[in-house]
Amino acid sequence: MPTATITRKGEDRLRAGHPWIYRSDVMDANAAPGDIVAVVGPRGRTLGYALFSDRSEIVLRMVAHGDDAPGDAMWKDRLAAAIAYRDSLALDATAYRLVHGEADRLPSLIVDRYGDYLVVQALSQGIDRRLPDITAALVELLRPAGILARNDPRVRLLEGLDQHVEALHGEVPPTIDVREGEVRYQVDPWRGQKTGLFLDQRENREAAMRYAHGRVLDAFSYNGGFALALARRAETVLAVDISEDAVARIKGNATRNRLTNIEARAMNAFDELRELERVGAAFDTIVLDPPAFAKNKAAVRKALSGYKEINLRALKLLKPGGFLVTCSCSYNVSEDAFVAIVAEAAADARAEVSVVEKRAQGRDHPILLNVPETYYLKCLILRKLA
Ligand code: SAH
Repeated sequence: MPTATITRKGEDRLRAGHPWIYRSDVMDANAAPGDIVAVVGPRGRTLGYALFSDRSEIVLRMVAHGDDAPGDAMWKDRLAAAIAYRDSLALDATAYRLVHGEADRLPSLIVDRYGDYLVVQALSQGIDRRLPDITAALVELLRPAGILARNDPRVRLLEGLDQHVEALHGEVPPTIDVREGEVRYQVDPWRGQKTGLFLDQRENREAAMRYAHGRVLDAFSYNGGFALALARRAETVLAVDISEDAVARIKGNATRNRLTNIEARAMNAFDELRELERVGAAFDTIVLDPPAFAKNKAAVRKALSGYKEINLRALKLLKPGGFLVTCSCSYNVSEDAFVAIVAEAAADARAEVSVVEKRAQGRDHPILLNVPETYYLKCLILRKLA
């Protein structure tokens, strides 16, 4: 069996419950790209088994601990366990994440369900090599009408893998109709952002519905996720996204849901917030769901100033008694750092604010207790007292 020998520091990481070993902690490897390797400690003990990458900085992604080598049934068993967990959540939606990589003990594999279709992403050499087996297991377990590989994320380049989108099973149509609670969406699994929807925000959209009222602003709306969920509880909704394509989708989705109180504007949200402030606009409910401002550690300082600016402006636009739903999906910005920057924004806006809920990504995107990086999405629901 191929092996990789790791340093003392690497061994300590594994013992602390982290599933990744970086290049600097691998002393020696005798393996081909995508192999399952026995992970050997500096004193020659087998510590577990991992997927090996010869290109990525993350050389080893653990799939098992201890010295029992994983058998052939491992992949299907883990897929079945991931599916059973989602079933147990009894989600009120036909689109959700079925497999969330490391958090389902299937490192670097994503599987999202959109109605009768599945969309998969293989984000390492090890998973890429096993995609035919994984596809076969998914067909056996779920009998989907089609499976699409959305293998176009840039991280694949770090693994030396190409970027492409292709149907792996059945036929996958250009759009799929799905439902989240009472909201209907049309999703483009081939070209939409991520795998088509921001599924990780589904439960936060649900939570936001409990507070929404009056005039709503949904900034960074994409295809109208929050706007559509909140429109039934609101007088009017203004949805803003920089992408013309997204704004066309918001309008289509509003019509599909027979909602006539949503206005969608293709605008830079930073400019639009400033302009709304200039004309003296006021809102009862505001959602801020920007893209990850900090894609890496070096970008954190700039990201924080971006978060501060939009939250400051939103808190000024918010009426007393109003709610702000503010999110960060940068895993490099911790919850503490995010709370601190929003607190600074509140102080600068001279707003008295209470914390109504502290939330994270939905339960179908589990967080690993010992892997802080997996807690990437923070969502605060705040109330402006005065
Ligand atoms: N709230 C959405 C997801 C938002 S994802 C949902 O629940 O589904 C972030 C969105 O921000 C993307 O659609 C992207 O097009 C948009 N975006 C990025 N930069 C922007 C900017 N400066 N102004 C407005 N929108 C922006």
